[in-house]
Amino acid sequence: MARKRIVVVGTSFAGYTGALELHELLGSAHDITVIANTHDFVFIPSLIWYPFGIRDREDISFDVRPIYAEREINFIEAAVTHFDLEQRLVHTADAAIPYDYLLIATGPKVDFDSVPGLGPHKNSHSICNLSHAEDTRQAWQRFLENPGPIVVGAAQGAACFGAAYEFIFNLRYQLKRHHLLEQAPLTYVTAEPFLGHFGIGGFGSAKKMSEKFFDMEGIEWRTDAMIKEVLPDGVLLEGGEYLPSKFTMIIPRFLGIDAIRNTPGLGNANGFIETDDGYRHKVYPEVYAAGVAVHVPPADDTKVPCGVPKTGYPSEVMAKTAAHNIAVDINGGERKTMPFSLIHAYCIMDTGNMGMLILGDHMLGSRHLEFIIPGPQAHWAKLAFEKYFLFTRRHGHV
Ligand SMILES: Cc1cc2nc3c(=O)[nH]c(=O)nc-3n(C[C@H](O)[C@H](O)[C@H](O)COP(=O)(O)OP(=O)(O)OC[C@H]3O[C@@H](n4cnc5c(N)ncnc54)[C@H](O)[C@@H]3O)c2cc1C
Repeated sequence: MARKRIVVVGTSFAGYTGALELHELLGSAHDITVIANTHDFVFIPSLIWYPFGIRDREDISFDVRPIYAEREINFIEAAVTHFDLEQRLVHTADAAIPYDYLLIATGPKVDFDSVPGLGPHKNSHSICNLSHAEDTRQAWQRFLENPGPIVVGAAQGAACFGAAYEFIFNLRYQLKRHHLLEQAPLTYVTAEPFLGHFGIGGFGSAKKMSEKFFDMEGIEWRTDAMIKEVLPDGVLLEGGEYLPSKFTMIIPRFLGIDAIRNTPGLGNANGFIETDDGYRHKVYPEVYAAGVAVHVPPADDTKVPCGVPKTGYPSEVMAKTAAHNIAVDINGGERKTMPFSLIHAYCIMDTGNMGMLILGDHMLGSRHLEFIIPGPQAHWAKLAFEKYFLFTRRHGHV
């Protein structure tokens, strides 16, 4: 059989898993190439701690190149600018890389333009990537010199609500350590219709439990919130309420990356790729997608738009499903499907020294099993999981 060229774009939860799984399934009988704009795998969940100096870059990232080299997976470090779906080419500034099968795992474009004043170079901080978290670390040091009220939240259209919850609780934990709770009242602002909605329509007793946590910790909240503008000294909501803030961290809406948006017919209006339940493109059968790059419709109707969080575990499941189906396209066999809604929901939400273990048999829709276990063990579980994840991935196990 002629060698097939399989190109994976992205090297994080979805891309790294997809590339290693393809190698596992196909060995060296075909050419696997990974293209990504960085050679680092960053464990993004740890960015909730980064601004407080609890983690550094080397603690939470590793170089993927030796792992690929050991497996004879080609690695090209370059930003993809667009795709040519007819000629089957991936374009970077310097090259056009041909493919027979393509797996797109490029994560989100963080859309700061959706709200005036939003974003690191304007009036709010972010922890969506390492460079944002680095800026936020510096801002946190300045804040400690001159404390005041704080607003943390998730803007209209956001999906990554868990990160906002974890950040506000970790922030409160740090304020307590610095004896600054009195000077720094906290407000959580969210597009969610109620606390504990998480973009997945709610989860068991999460609403009641979150409200209790917020009350206990003295954190105010605004749900169904549309942010009109983020100003240097506060957040203005639609409806006119103004929340003073000296330190604002808002998770924005995510879109698909520009390279998808620059390619006619690849993504939808938001730049996400519509696939079947085997993560294959609906029009181009040789194109697959996994992770945040995949379109997942909202979980329910909400007054203010809320996206569905495509977290690490489902991103890896999507990538493994796509890799399996690419291998079937090449070698034959039975295709797999795994609808996003049916992927298990596993999440550990950290609050600094406590947390919540969230476990469900389905991401979306009605569940037979759903557990929320609050307590200090959730914090320790998160630390253990971080170590386990980085150890296994650093050694090429997915
Ligand atoms: C602060 C924060 C906390 C989080 N906490 C958790 C958590 O506790 N648990 C959990 O499960 N999930 C968590 N998530 C979500 C998790 O990070 C995502 O689910 C995961 O990163 C998605 O993986 P991905 O591979 O789809 O995208 P990404 O991780 O965003 O990776 C995208 C890849 O594509 C590459 N890329 C992007 N554009 C280009 C381009 N133009 N050319 C070439 N390469 C490109 C990038 O370099 C990267 O390798 C959190 C997210 C955030 C922001």
